Amino acid sequence: MKRRSRVPDVPELAAHLRNLEEAWRGRRLDSDPLLFPHRYERQDDREVAAFLASSLAFGRVASINASLEKLFRTLGPQPASALRGGGDSWPGLEGFVHRWVDAGSLRPFLRAVGETLRTEGSLGGLLADGDDGSADYVAALDRFFSVLRERTGVPPAGRTRGLQFLLPSPAGGGACKRAHLFLRWMIRNDDVDLGLWKGGVFSPARLLLPMDTHVHRISRYLGLTARPTADLRAAREATGWLSKIDPSDPVRFDWSLSRLGILAECVRDPRRSRCGDCAVRPVCRAASPRGRPPVRSHASGASPE
Ligand code: SF4
Repeated sequence: MKRRSRVPDVPELAAHLRNLEEAWRGRRLDSDPLLFPHRYERQDDREVAAFLASSLAFGRVASINASLEKLFRTLGPQPASALRGGGDSWPGLEGFVHRWVDAGSLRPFLRAVGETLRTEGSLGGLLADGDDGSADYVAALDRFFSVLRERTGVPPAGRTRGLQFLLPSPAGGGACKRAHLFLRWMIRNDDVDLGLWKGGVFSPARLLLPMDTHVHRISRYLGLTARPTADLRAAREATGWLSKIDPSDPVRFDWSLSRLGILAECVRDPRRSRCGDCAVRPVCRAASPRGRPPVRSHASGASPE
C-alpha cells in the first residue's frame, strides 16, 4: 500500500474537503448548540445567545441542550435586554449544573456580559476594541476575556473552576475551541453561521479552526497537523493548511469536519467509523477497510471538547 507523505497533497485534499462540505451543507443544525442563537430574531439576542451557547458547548449534545434550555428559559424571550438590565440573582438558575459550571459560576459570568452590553453596546464592540490587527484573533480574545474577568467582580482568588473555564486565556497555548467557535458563528456567514459581525476588523480570513478532540483527531488523519495535543499550535497549523485551500475563509470546512465527530460518524476506533460514507476517505490515513458499512441515517452521539 502506498505510504502517504507527512504533508497533505493540497489539491487532492481540497477536492475531498469540498465534497465533505457539500455532504453536510446546512444539515443537522439540531446536532449543534448553534441551534439556540438561530431561535432569536434580534441581532443583539443572537449575539448574546451565541456567546452563552458556545461557552457551554462542552460535554454530550443532550446535556448541552438541556443546560442551554434551562439558561435561556431563565433569561426569557429577549436575553440581551435581560442581561443589559443588570439582573443579578436569576432564581431560575437555582440548581443549574453543567459539568463543572454551576449557578455560582454562571451568575458572575452573566453579570460581566450584562456590563459589556451596557458599556460597549455589544460583545463584538468589546472584541474590536482589543483587536491589534494581528493574523488571527487570539490576542484580541485574550483581552476580551481579561475585561470580562474584571467585570465579574470576583477577585482572582475567588474564581471557581467553572468561572475560570467560562473565561479562558486564549493566548495561553490552549486551543480554546469554544472561543474560536463563537467567532466562527459571528464572523462567517452561510447556511449555519450567523455572520453578524461584518466589516472593520472582522474577517473570516483571520479565524482559527475551533479545535476540540474530535476535530484534532480528524485533522491528524488528514495530515493537517502532526501535533499530539489539541492546542493553539495545532489549531494554527491545521488552519494554515486549510488557508492554502481557501485563504479568505479557511474555517469553512469546520462544520462538516465537526459533524463527523459530533454525530459519531468518525470515532476513535476506525472499525466503528462510517468510513464507507465518508467523503474524505481517499485522503484519510485512518480509513478502515473494515469500517461500518455505509448507511443513510445518522444517529446523535458524543460531542465536543
Ligand atoms: S474515512 Fe473513516 S477514519 Fe477517516 S475521517 Fe472519514 S470516518 Fe474518520
